[in-house]
Amino acid sequence: MNCLERVDLKNFSPPELEGFIATFGKERYRSTQILRWLYQKGVCSFDEMTNLSKRFREQLGQVSRISNLNPIRIEEAKDRTNKFLFELEDGNRIESVLIPDKSRLTLCVSTQVGCGLGCRFCLTGKMGLKRNLSVSEIVNQILAAKEHLHDKSSITNIVLMGMGEPLANYTNTLKAIELMAHPDGFCFSSRRITLSTAGLLPELKKLLNEKIRFRLALSLNASDEETRSHLMPINRRHPMKEVLKVLRNFPLKRRARITFEYVLLEGVNDSTGDAKRLIQLLKGIPSKINLIPLNEAPEIPFKKPTEERVREFQEILMRAGLTAIVRASKGTDISAACGQLQGKV
Ligand code: SF4
Repeated sequence: MNCLERVDLKNFSPPELEGFIATFGKERYRSTQILRWLYQKGVCSFDEMTNLSKRFREQLGQVSRISNLNPIRIEEAKDRTNKFLFELEDGNRIESVLIPDKSRLTLCVSTQVGCGLGCRFCLTGKMGLKRNLSVSEIVNQILAAKEHLHDKSSITNIVLMGMGEPLANYTNTLKAIELMAHPDGFCFSSRRITLSTAGLLPELKKLLNEKIRFRLALSLNASDEETRSHLMPINRRHPMKEVLKVLRNFPLKRRARITFEYVLLEGVNDSTGDAKRLIQLLKGIPSKINLIPLNEAPEIPFKKPTEERVREFQEILMRAGLTAIVRASKGTDISAACGQLQGKV
């Protein structure tokens, strides 16, 4: 069996790994040990799993493998944001971004190569969708970032906001989140994992029945259907009002809120009327609004509003009792900011 034909252990969710290990007639705790080797110690070979017998390690190596992701380039911005460029086994490229902010160190991971949703203010959208990432390709981004940090400082938050629409790669994304949250996996608290979606209705409804918990963010970006459909073509299939109806019923822990991302575009969605409509739209949803002045690029046909306009927009929301935060763009000098990921060298 050639190496790539063997099953990649990192493509298994914790229960799937347990089932796989059981086929060797091994006890349940063996899968716990393997999870810890893979995600807490970050080993790359079976030989390093020293609490498994030599015979079992050989058996595992005959039918399975441990994939790895090494960055082909790491860039550091002036604000110490790091952007990782990875080449996948099929030659496709993806990016992750590590963002330091006061006491937080947030890793923004990709879930697809490119994105098929074509939002007009986003460079990833211009690439189109090449393919979904596997579970291992998603979690290996975290392991590679940890390796780069030499565990000097640990990652505190994971956001699924890199390249791609996470809910369009539903099964693999949810398995990857299971590994992020599992006590024997990466062991991130569910409050520290955020999935950002453009709002796919069937998948959002499916999420209502999932046991796995994480924070949810909706990329909103407009206060009326027409403008949103213009900016985000997905809105024609899944209108904002329907998406917000689902979010109104979303099970949230006490004091938890849904984040709404709002990329501010001059003269398009930044008027006083937009802010007032936004207040009405979000009534009844525990929410936090992240205002993101556009990261301009030559390929993007929009401009960012003036700082004064951004502040006025924020104040209208805050006067209505909403939490609205202006997100300072990180890593713009290395094209690592929101909507700038393209997988280019
Ligand atoms: S903003 Fe998100 S959903 Fe829209 S094209 Fe970019 S990556 Fe895809």
